[in-house]
Amino acid sequence: MTDVHVHLAALPTPANGCLLSKRMRRSPITHLVAWSQGLPLDDAETANARYLDRLDEELGRSRSVRRAVLLGMDGVYDASGRLDEGHTDFLIANDCVLEARKRSERFLAGVSINPARRDAVEEAERCADRGAVLVKVLPNAQCFDPSEKRFQDFYRALARRKLALLSHVGFEFSLIGQDQSVGDPARLRAALDEGVTVIAAHGCSTGLFVWEKYLETMRELAARYPRFYVDTSALTLPNRVGALWRLARSPELNDRFLFGTDYPLPVFGWGHGGDADNRFDRQARVLTGVGLPPRLDFADLPR
Ligand SMILES: [Zn+2]
Repeated sequence: MTDVHVHLAALPTPANGCLLSKRMRRSPITHLVAWSQGLPLDDAETANARYLDRLDEELGRSRSVRRAVLLGMDGVYDASGRLDEGHTDFLIANDCVLEARKRSERFLAGVSINPARRDAVEEAERCADRGAVLVKVLPNAQCFDPSEKRFQDFYRALARRKLALLSHVGFEFSLIGQDQSVGDPARLRAALDEGVTVIAAHGCSTGLFVWEKYLETMRELAARYPRFYVDTSALTLPNRVGALWRLARSPELNDRFLFGTDYPLPVFGWGHGGDADNRFDRQARVLTGVGLPPRLDFADLPR
């Protein structure tokens, strides 16, 4: 099984092209990840190598997951398509993802390209040439609207190069989200209409627990587009677990679920996988326990 939603965390070094704003460096999320993974925030090279070694080791011990798509994170771009460093909280560069992939046969490259960047099409071609399997976007934090007409060429490039589009939907808490309405999965139709394989993250849940307004949209998209999928990442977190139970009551969508964890975020066992000391296995056990056993592998998607 492939985990399609594993974050690559990397501190900036002179060579890796990554960014981390002062605000983000001080944020509780950064400190929580550093503490839980044993990463020294004052030694970027060591922290970055250790993050990948631990991930590789945890994957190696997993009984259910063999490979993980490592996700980059592009920044915010201004009206002329240039990187806006002042509004970018962090950036995990595509070259950093493509290099990390070479460290282990268990890693796949999930680059991140903000469609608003002026070289979006060229960057998609370049990353496809270097072996990327998908493109991750986070419209709320990257400040773009996926439904904009001007992104048509970008979506056509993704379809042509068989790069899937993995998009965050719903609300965004772990970053400093800006316009939350662009997290509406209906806006992904623009990519689906161009033939792109689209994966909506977190089972289309909003993350607001009781207000799951996107589940109906998900059913509509699944009925209309055979290339529409959702991933199961982060669904054991307390604010999303309500959506997990609702999804478990929609067995007609079972063949659209792709396994994902949202590593390095924690996985809660909810009584199903309490003794599995491996996040990948725990997530698989919880999903199986609620009636959503991982079936479809990313590697098996029609191309
Ligand atoms: Zn994520």
